[in-house]
Amino acid sequence: METKGYAVLEASKPLVPYQFSRRELRPTDVALRIDYAGICHSDIHQAREEWGPALFPMVPGHEIAGVVTDIGSAVTKFKVGDRIGVGVFIDSCRKCASCKAGLEQYCIEGMTGTYNGYERDGKTIAQGGYSDAFVVDQDYAVTIPSNLDMAGVAPLLCAGITLYSPLKNWGAGPGKKVGIIGLGGLGHMGLKFAVALGAHTTVFSHSPSKAQDAKDMGAHDFVVTKDPATLAAMPKDFDLILNTVSADMDLTPFLERLKLDGTLVLIGLPGKPYEISTPTLLAQRRSIAGSMIGGIAQTQEMLNFCGEHSIVSDVEVIQPDYINEAYERTVKSDVKYRFVIDASKF
Ligand code: NAP
Ligand code: ZN
Ligand code: ZN
Repeated sequence: METKGYAVLEASKPLVPYQFSRRELRPTDVALRIDYAGICHSDIHQAREEWGPALFPMVPGHEIAGVVTDIGSAVTKFKVGDRIGVGVFIDSCRKCASCKAGLEQYCIEGMTGTYNGYERDGKTIAQGGYSDAFVVDQDYAVTIPSNLDMAGVAPLLCAGITLYSPLKNWGAGPGKKVGIIGLGGLGHMGLKFAVALGAHTTVFSHSPSKAQDAKDMGAHDFVVTKDPATLAAMPKDFDLILNTVSADMDLTPFLERLKLDGTLVLIGLPGKPYEISTPTLLAQRRSIAGSMIGGIAQTQEMLNFCGEHSIVSDVEVIQPDYINEAYERTVKSDVKYRFVIDASKF
């Protein structure tokens, strides 16, 4: 299937228009017309090889919202015209304990990424969502509730599920105090979900200009992190803090804000490892954990939750020729709060 998109041809080079073909439909595949594709900071990390060597040409994009245009002969889950989404992975082994438990992102063989990896045949480079069409196995796509705006939905496929999953896993809800570090694409979804789940929610941000937006999204508190004294003066009373920052940072002042048995969940993925203060960790039997996106079943649960609570991402819709500028602005934390590409313009 002939497809138009934008690709990075070499690490750190600007994205350029790119034409390629996608596979013909297998019996359990669906084809979709992509309507919108979100720009995740992980796209930038990979296009710039900040996580190590990457595969080029690379069509990034793993926040995909579109409409089914064709189905394979054995497809039962979707029909032509359905609004569906595809996220960070397009396949997995389907046999291991994680896959069987609906935790495909933790597949023991490794999930098959939407781009910057090989498909399960081991030789075709998977190409992502900055394009006008997509082909995916029905088991790795989800249904988009009919009441939600498609542009605002696209970021839910990565940013949304990546914050929804740890909030559910660590029991965010009434009576719990939750902190979100970084009000970017992921962080603003974490804020919306934590508030909707009933938790007392604090945003930690290095951008004072985001205070009003955070309040408008329901934040109970907004703490500017530029001055270490501000954090040091706060009580140690958080149950859960989710760190979505994309850059290197000192975790200790945040770890210190956790109460007994509190957990700091690492979600942001800067290239360098963190330094951990052991005394701070053991002082209140605190934990540091990690969390990666979410499985297909939980992604559907998250979308249904969004449908019930009318939650979508706050987006700036852009044309494909603005992607390179959008990357620069994202790195400067200058996006409100996710860039989404209008895929009808490829
Ligand atoms: P983003 O939109 O760029 O947001 C990151 C936020 O971090 C910024 O808006 C900013 O918030 C804060 N920040 C950035 N640079 C900073 C600095 N130098 N010092 C302090 N704070 C800084 O990125 P994103 O798309 O949300 O992704 C965030 C991270 O999560 C990336 O590393 C990405 O690769 C990773 N990620 C992980 C998963 C997973 O499964 N675990 C999934 C998707 C993405 P303020 O302006 O409010 O401070
Ligand atoms: Zn992502
Ligand atoms: Zn598996």
